[in-house]
Amino acid sequence: MAHKISDACISCGACADACPVGAIDPGDTTYVVNPDACIDCGACEEACPTGAITAE
Ligand code: SF4
Repeated sequence: MAHKISDACISCGACADACPVGAIDPGDTTYVVNPDACIDCGACEEACPTGAITAE
């Protein structure tokens, strides 16, 4: 399991800064969570200003 970023992402980068394991990187249209690195801590979910991140 990993957290996932939806189309509501505005690519602000707040989640990437909040992630303790560096699992989030900029993608083509939205930021993207690397499911192999994500430890499901939820820090990005709280950091996101648009509520674009949810647990899968
Ligand atoms: Fe990173 Fe935690 Fe979000 Fe996973 S749930 S992407 S480890 S901040």
